Amino acid sequence: MPVKELKELYEKISRAGHCTAFTGAGVSTLSGIRDFRGKNGLYNDVDAEKIFDIGYFKKDPSLYYKAASDLIYSVDEKKPSVVHIVLAELEKRGFLKAIITQNIDLLHTRAGSARVIEVHGSPKIHHCLSCTGINMPFDEAVAIVRRGEMPECPKCKRVLKPAITFFGENLPVDALMEATKEAEKSDLMLVLGTSLSVFPAAAMPQYTLRHGGEIVIVNNMSTSLDSYALFHFDDLEEVFNGIRDLIQRSAP
Ligand code: ZN
Repeated sequence: MPVKELKELYEKISRAGHCTAFTGAGVSTLSGIRDFRGKNGLYNDVDAEKIFDIGYFKKDPSLYYKAASDLIYSVDEKKPSVVHIVLAELEKRGFLKAIITQNIDLLHTRAGSARVIEVHGSPKIHHCLSCTGINMPFDEAVAIVRRGEMPECPKCKRVLKPAITFFGENLPVDALMEATKEAEKSDLMLVLGTSLSVFPAAAMPQYTLRHGGEIVIVNNMSTSLDSYALFHFDDLEEVFNGIRDLIQRSAP
């Protein structure tokens, strides 16, 4: 990768008035998490679509909890990647204002990012589909699921559901509104590891463009917005290793 372009990118990020990042599955695969929709994606497995289907979950939540035990609740095995870590560092330095993510693995938060908007929901809370006010935190659910059990509602004993958006459910309205506002405010959006094929979340970089902002795309496949991007790089790991070096060199 040309060092000159990387330097220009870092300059852009450090001078932006309101820089945000929009992240997808490609960022998670660097941490060993399977891409749910990609070429070797989980959803190619026959039963895989059922795992995140609200209809199936209501009938038999054990399908989700068995599959997700490794996918979502094995937190010790999945570490934040250089992308997660560098994005958190950019936020600490005041360069990055928010991360909008399609991912449901909590890795941005674990890397230290404070402002993370999860547009496909999140397992950070487990709630009861019958009772209001039941919010089991993630760590508590992890302990239960890793024992091979399912988290239950303390009031009605129904199995709790993670606040991940399942097929057949609507995306979280509050997160979508917040993400839209951030995208519109952005004069620079880093679009990372997403092929922009899933709507409406994929509309985020379009909101930025429509409000006069610029976008940078880093993804190993082409996207529908490539021709609108200021820069397009293929290799996330290479780009973020490069940015990490530039941050370290500019450290006081
Ligand atoms: Zn309940």
